[in-house]
Amino acid sequence: METFERLESEVRGYCRSWPAVFASAEGCHLVDEDGRRYLDFFAGAGALNYGHNPPALMEALSAHIAGNGIIHGLDMATTTKRDFLQRFEEVVLTPRSLEYKVQFPGPTGTNAVESALKLARKVTGRERIVGFTNAFHGMTLGSLAVTGNSMKRKGAGVPLHMADSMPYDGFLDDDADSLGYLEAMLDDDGSGLDKPAAVILETIQAEGGINVATTEWLRGLQDLCRRHDILFIIDDIQVGCGRTGPFFSWEEMGLDPDIICLSKSLSGSGLPFALVLMKPEHDVWEPGEHNGTFRGNNAAFVTATAALETFWTDDALTKETLRKADKITSGLKQLATDHPGLVDDLRGRGLIQGFGTTDPEVADSITSEAFDRGLIIETAGPADEVVKLLPPLIVGDEHIDTAMAIIAESMEAT
Ligand code: PLP
Repeated sequence: METFERLESEVRGYCRSWPAVFASAEGCHLVDEDGRRYLDFFAGAGALNYGHNPPALMEALSAHIAGNGIIHGLDMATTTKRDFLQRFEEVVLTPRSLEYKVQFPGPTGTNAVESALKLARKVTGRERIVGFTNAFHGMTLGSLAVTGNSMKRKGAGVPLHMADSMPYDGFLDDDADSLGYLEAMLDDDGSGLDKPAAVILETIQAEGGINVATTEWLRGLQDLCRRHDILFIIDDIQVGCGRTGPFFSWEEMGLDPDIICLSKSLSGSGLPFALVLMKPEHDVWEPGEHNGTFRGNNAAFVTATAALETFWTDDALTKETLRKADKITSGLKQLATDHPGLVDDLRGRGLIQGFGTTDPEVADSITSEAFDRGLIIETAGPADEVVKLLPPLIVGDEHIDTAMAIIAESMEAT
């Protein structure tokens, strides 16, 4: 760890949460340089839905490399890009009767969000974007402007502009109506609110503390956007690609987003990869208006295509994800019953679940005790008061049992 402390900026985060130097990984486990195995219930912050080094994806990548396949990331027309687009259409878009154009906005999630925000402004000719309390959309300036986390925003050094923050579902008291408030602001010429270009939101705020929006609220928000001619952008970067069961987190809710951001588990391998889906009528880009050096990661196209072929040609993964989600929910209920003084509430949907604690120090203690016992879990929420479980979707029942036993021991040690 001395090398990291001497050379790496103070900004490093996970080095501090997990004081180990990791050397290899397989399936649901990370292994440190001393050979100690850790059960990984963080899954690369949601980038490893199919686990570490999924064999079918690694085979496809090895064959690509062995055949002198193109690795560089300029967004040229390549066979790997074409294969990905064709598979994405066949496996994801067509079966859901979705019509979207696909843009490769840059390597990571925040690139997808930046691109979505730029596009919304270009389509509407309006400047402002509505984001939500406790949202997280990434660390570049536009994404940060719609992020509802003051600690992260402080990193920008100076106040951020161009966005308005509205209360997310459940943020206000039960009887307060956050959509009614937004509607009143938009209807009232005296509100001072410039009509926004778009709203951007997560269906489950993952970093923000596993806040799950109801279908009713999401539909209400979408209707409001339609009535006021505002674009409806869903950031499915963390909870898409099967995290909640189906491929998209919103697909069974009757939603019809104008723009969708995907990244994290899209490559399936941990290789950086992001995309923006836009309704064809919103594809107002001119050639070259949003380009860059690493926008067509060919190695990621290979593993992303293999992921679609391995996991998404039937509904087995969705069904298994939902079954394992129920098992985790039962485990968490038991933990809450056994430790009422530590657990405030249970949260989540699919394989993003967790619990609020009575105090951020409790959450911190549980996650570090768990690490000492070989389980990697993280905290989330505005004060890091939520313990978050984000296992790979391929997690086994035995791994869930082990994780629950370690969390129970960690609670007893807290
Ligand atoms: N949007 C959401 C919902 C996220 O959870 C994240 C990352 O955690 C991002 C955007 C930013 O993605 P990246 O860290 O790849 O830039």
